[in-house]
Amino acid sequence: MFQALQLRQNPEGATVAEIVSLDEAQLPDGEVLVGVACSTVNYKDALAITGASPVVRKFPMVPGIDFAGTVLDSRDSRYKPGDAVLLNGWGVGENHWGGLAQKARVKADWLVPMPRGMDARQAMAIGTAGYTAMLCVMALQERGLSPGAGPVLVTGANGGVGSIAIALLARLGFEVHASTGRMAESAHLRQLGAAEVIDRASLSVPGKPLQKERWAGAVDSVGSHTLANICASLKYGGTVAACGLAQGLDFPASVAPFILRGITLAGVDSVQAPMARRLTAWERLARELPADLMEANTETISLEAVAALAPRLLAGQVRGRVRVMLPA
Ligand code: NDP
Repeated sequence: MFQALQLRQNPEGATVAEIVSLDEAQLPDGEVLVGVACSTVNYKDALAITGASPVVRKFPMVPGIDFAGTVLDSRDSRYKPGDAVLLNGWGVGENHWGGLAQKARVKADWLVPMPRGMDARQAMAIGTAGYTAMLCVMALQERGLSPGAGPVLVTGANGGVGSIAIALLARLGFEVHASTGRMAESAHLRQLGAAEVIDRASLSVPGKPLQKERWAGAVDSVGSHTLANICASLKYGGTVAACGLAQGLDFPASVAPFILRGITLAGVDSVQAPMARRLTAWERLARELPADLMEANTETISLEAVAALAPRLLAGQVRGRVRVMLPA
């Protein structure tokens, strides 16, 4: 038997999260059984656990869209017991039991071998949010963005994606401007590498279709008016990598900056990203992020504390990343 956080729906349709004991035989199908060392709480996990959005369509569900651990058993020749692995996305924690449990059984195709020089704790200080931040950085670089082009904006700066995007971009030599609703956390954002911190209120309200050219690029985890204002404020030929919806799913923008300034809106998805891209992202994360900086950006909690933390994360009260340690 092993411990898991499990979600069920009560007769009123509300999501209930509770710690349960499960048997290995109850785990879903998959070629690889993993002993989970750590998982994390991402924005999507918080939506699933609180039921704030219909992330989970099939109950009961073990949430947790990412995890890191050790292979216990494998029917796939690529993995053997003792191998260190990690996983992000593929619907795990949404429609296949996920990482907020001591054990998970998954498809071999979904696993990423632990990058050299990284352990499970370090990997989950990064988690899906950090891996998505790297996919955003890759999207900007693939479109030719370099530090000489001008400052780069990161929104949702104190969140998981935002905080790690700041650290990555600063280490690549970019002048990073961080947009946040928590100006009191400016010192932390500067420690991560932000050169300037701006109040998100200046971006979150409706703005003009074309505004002063301020940024050569941007990583946006917020969406809505913020993304529209970023587009309107990009320098000629600039790119914004859009991955999130913390402000809203809407995108009330105009085509003006696209047709008059040649800007690019690059969408970023982490869930179905091809394996080659994942491997590149994780190799780069292991090489480019200082582990001590990520540790300072991470709060560590137990499985029992996850349900209470989820609403705080949705309310924007959590700084950086949340790592969940599973009992050994
Ligand atoms: P977090 O909750 O850690 O961070 C979100 C941050 O957004 C908050 O910390 C806050 O930063 C800011 N924010 C919150 N509410 C608002 C608001 N109403 N208006 C403007 N800013 C707001 O989440 P993550 O970093 O894990 O995820 C961020 C977004 O990216 C989410 O929407 C998530 O679903 C999405 N995402 C998408 C992925 C993909 O594959 N496309 C993968 C991973 C995440 P501050 O206090 O600094 O303003």
